[in-house]
Amino acid sequence: MVVDVIRWLEQGDHSAIVQPFHDPIVPSGGACPKCGKRMGLHGSMATGRGRETVCPGDYILTEPNGERRPERPKAFSKLYEKIIKEPTKTVSSKKEGDPE
Ligand SMILES: [Zn+2]
Repeated sequence: MVVDVIRWLEQGDHSAIVQPFHDPIVPSGGACPKCGKRMGLHGSMATGRGRETVCPGDYILTEPNGERRPERPKAFSKLYEKIIKEPTKTVSSKKEGDPE
C-alpha cells in the first residue's frame, strides 16, 4: 500500500489539514502526554476516528481511500518504508571517493 505522507512540524504547515490545537480542558501550556512538548505547539486534525492531536514532527498520512491520520515518527518508520524521490543529479555530481 502506498500512502501519501506530509511531515507536520509547526503551526502553519499544511493548515488545510492541521488546525491549531485547541481544547477547553487541556491548557496550551501543558505538556503533551505523547511527546512532552507544550500543547500550544500542537495541531489537531479530523480523522476517521474523530479529531486527533498532531504532535510537532508527526507524519500526516493519506491512505488510498482518502483517509488521513497522524502517525508518530517512530511508529511511522516501523510501519512504512520511505520512498524518496530525489531530483536527478546531472551536472555537479561527484564521483565516489573524490576528495572534498
Ligand atoms: Zn505531542
